[in-house]
Amino acid sequence: ETKLDVSGAPRRFEPLMEHRARTRHAIASGLREALARRQFILHYQPLMDLSTERVTGFEALIRWNHPERGMIPPMAFIPVAEERGMISAIGEWVLRAACVEAAGWPASMTVAVNVAVAQFANGRLASIVRDALAASGLAGSRLEIEITESLALAQTEAVRAQIEAIRAMGVRIAVDDFGTGYSSLAQLRNLPFDRLKIDRSFVRELPAGLESLAIIRAVAELGSALGLQITAEGVETEEQRDGLKAMGCTAAQGFYYGRPEPAASVPGMMVRLGGA
Ligand code: C2E
Ligand code: MG
Ligand code: MG
Ligand code: MG
Repeated sequence: ETKLDVSGAPRRFEPLMEHRARTRHAIASGLREALARRQFILHYQPLMDLSTERVTGFEALIRWNHPERGMIPPMAFIPVAEERGMISAIGEWVLRAACVEAAGWPASMTVAVNVAVAQFANGRLASIVRDALAASGLAGSRLEIEITESLALAQTEAVRAQIEAIRAMGVRIAVDDFGTGYSSLAQLRNLPFDRLKIDRSFVRELPAGLESLAIIRAVAELGSALGLQITAEGVETEEQRDGLKAMGCTAAQGFYYGRPEPAASVPGMMVRLGGA
């Protein structure tokens, strides 16, 4: 097999680059089969109300249960799926599966589903959400869609109309990983969101990081003034929990409460975290 070096890069870097390209290629071709062979599964991580310290729902997080490579985390294949135009099909499966599983939980429990920017591109997302709710019987008020900050800011009419159509079903919209992009709270003022999820990179610096403290406090104060729920992501210690609550965060998620676990573990987590 002949290798062409079109980049002119030093040859000593080639093995690593080839390895990466091969890995991405293997992932991309594997993804096509994974859906058909039902190799994706959802794990669920508890979402806590900080005022009651009880679980209110779960975030669905995809994993690829690969026959040879074991459990592959989303960051290893979601970007490839986006790049190769496969994210809409995978995302539709996630929505349907999460709604079906959540429909079996107590009616007070919500489910949060991550949606990639590219899933808004073909204009079908609202009808996919409607179908997933209808097929599962899940009330729209029990579903939350998590979108990224970059999408939150891409205020095209098309995106905005889809978000409004989804919200009209009673579904809530959360802005995920908030603080990692380039938005300001002022920009979010007129947009149709229900929740900000403060990125783990800020929470990780607590309790010592003074800049993160100031940012979290400002987000919590202004966010709640705008009528938004404020979730802190990545809460790992009791000390962080106490600080976040004192700063006005209304909800929390993190290893301190529970790691993402398979659907079969949800009933046990609800008992342990005061939700059932
Ligand atoms: P995310 O939506 O911000 O999800 C939270 C991630 O942080 C999860 O990683 C979770 O396991 C991890 N996490 C939660 N609490 C803690 C903590 O206390 N400490 C630490 N160190 N980590 C914590 P995971 O499951 O690997 O997912 C990574 C990302 O992949 C997600 O970030 C989300 O952006 C994306 N993702 C996951 N499932 C889906 C999906 O179904 N569709 C799409 N489009 N993206 C998904
Ligand atoms: Mg999320
Ligand atoms: Mg997040
Ligand atoms: Mg995050």
